Amino acid sequence: MAARDETPSARTLVLDVPDWPGHQAGQHVDVRLTAEDGYTAQRSYSIANAADGGRLELTVQRVPEGEVSEYLTGVYRVGDPVEIRGPVGGWFVWRPAEPDPVLLVGGGSGIVPLMAMIRARKAGGSRVPFRLIYSVRSPEDGYYADELRTRARDDSGLDVAYVYTRRAPRNWPEPPRRVGVAALNTAGWPPELAPLCYVCGPTGFVETVADTLVALGHDPARVRTERFGPTGG
Ligand SMILES: Cc1cc2nc3c(=O)[nH]c(=O)nc-3n(C[C@H](O)[C@H](O)[C@H](O)COP(=O)(O)OP(=O)(O)OC[C@H]3O[C@@H](n4cnc5c(N)ncnc54)[C@H](O)[C@@H]3O)c2cc1C
Repeated sequence: MAARDETPSARTLVLDVPDWPGHQAGQHVDVRLTAEDGYTAQRSYSIANAADGGRLELTVQRVPEGEVSEYLTGVYRVGDPVEIRGPVGGWFVWRPAEPDPVLLVGGGSGIVPLMAMIRARKAGGSRVPFRLIYSVRSPEDGYYADELRTRARDDSGLDVAYVYTRRAPRNWPEPPRRVGVAALNTAGWPPELAPLCYVCGPTGFVETVADTLVALGHDPARVRTERFGPTGG
């Protein structure tokens, strides 16, 4: 077991789960915490890594006043027991045998299951072209920044585009903006290519992006969504 900080407010936990049955990229687990007085709290967390024996990586964003996320990002110590149930989910998954181009659109912590897909693509030897559009508030908020930079350079067929919603890096060619028609047109795929689209993040973000993809002509049946929470993003 191990833990590492991804950003000042997000932490990756690496867990060894005995008898783990394996998982597919995009699936999540339910994490259950039990206090000494028996009180329990359970939340879902996406799996960040490609299948790798009993190793699971979860990246948790600290939500202010959040019961479980504050514990996992602040109090939890490597080796503390946690209860895991899963893997969960059969629709929001990508398998390396899929032949179609893929568009990934993530907002904030919504990158987590998409990162599992990027990692599974490489691990599975797939050469299917992937495009990732990653919406973050500011440069410091991007998860897996070094790895994404390296993969965008070395993983043939993977394109990575950032959209900054509050503050862009110095000399960035665009002012801060949200993922909309412009970003989906320039950094996504044309609908005629019939890509598989995976959209993940805060509920409002997911609904806006999915609606925009459909309005642009993407087949709703090929736009797969995962909503992480109640905020508008
Ligand atoms: C399928 C699935 C996969 C998920 N994967 C991840 C993941 O990989 N990484 C990750 O960090 N989170 C993920 N989440 C969100 C996670 O399950 C929790 O909702 C989140 O950690 C907040 O829980 P909490 O106990 O800290 O906050 P709570 O105590 O439940 O809520 C505290 C306050 O924060 C608000 N809030 C609750 N959830 C969110 C949220 N997601 N975003 C913003 N505000 C919120 C509440 O309305 C409340 O006001 C996932 C959710 C789902 C459904």
